Amino acid sequence: MNKNPYSLFEHYKQNLNLVRADPRIKMEPDRDDIVICPLCFKKWFTVENIKEKSLTLEHVPPDTLGGKGIALTCKDCNNNQGSRIDSFLVSYINDLDALQGKGEGYVDGDMKTDDGNRVRIEFRSNESGWEVLGVPKASNPKHIEFINEQFRQNRVERINLTLRITNPRRAKLALLRSAYLLAFGYLGHGFLINRNLGPLRYQFQHPEEDIFPMQAIHIFNPHEVADSFVGINALYQSPREKSYYIIFDVQRAESVTHRVGVMLPGPNSGDANFFVDLKSIKHQKSEVILNHYNVSFEDKLEFPFIAHDIWNELRTISE
Ligand SMILES: [Zn+2]
Repeated sequence: MNKNPYSLFEHYKQNLNLVRADPRIKMEPDRDDIVICPLCFKKWFTVENIKEKSLTLEHVPPDTLGGKGIALTCKDCNNNQGSRIDSFLVSYINDLDALQGKGEGYVDGDMKTDDGNRVRIEFRSNESGWEVLGVPKASNPKHIEFINEQFRQNRVERINLTLRITNPRRAKLALLRSAYLLAFGYLGHGFLINRNLGPLRYQFQHPEEDIFPMQAIHIFNPHEVADSFVGINALYQSPREKSYYIIFDVQRAESVTHRVGVMLPGPNSGDANFFVDLKSIKHQKSEVILNHYNVSFEDKLEFPFIAHDIWNELRTISE
């Protein structure tokens, strides 16, 4: 479903005009030939901005992880958040794949003996076990020699391996960002009329701050969550919590699929409390119900407030 940026512009422009037709919505400037950046809200764009590259096609999730061009975002958000957030996801997925013996990558790490000799290594699993490669350029030659000598003399009793998974928190922020943009892609500007999403946009602009609870972001094996739930869902958790639950896949070329589920807050006052609680509450067993909504990309032109309809269950559109 890769879209052409010009047809995307038409599509989002129409959706924005339908949403703005509601008398409760106030938005400047008052013109009907624009779209806004769903990530910063600071900028509005006309179709000319695509040609001059200040409005850009955004792949969700990133294109190296199988994403499709489904949203238009401003150049600043696309570039800054691409390098400060999304780039960590690519490394993280590479690391997960290497630990499962898939893909071409390695995990960085250290190999250390009890007497303090240390060499930099690269690590991955393979069919027969582990593959550990030394990185001579990043290691002290004396330490390499020492450890090699110990191996030669068969005197190694214990080796400590430390593996460094690339910044998992930033990687999860990238998954949160993809979930937000996917929900926008399917539900449109009506989805963005939700005061509880403001902290998410602030989080994307300030990835170094700890705002959104990482407990709301889950990575599964695909067999754990059925294909029929991929897309937009509402998640109910007893006794009364409710969130949007966006499910999508990320995958390096020819490697394993990772299925991702992300909770996003609903639009009503009080819906964000769930997320405040998530940070402090320890995991406890509770009943979880997932309702799938079979929403097509085009539906937001017929139902501009589909996000709120789903939330309030005024209309059931699942098949
Ligand atoms: Zn922006």
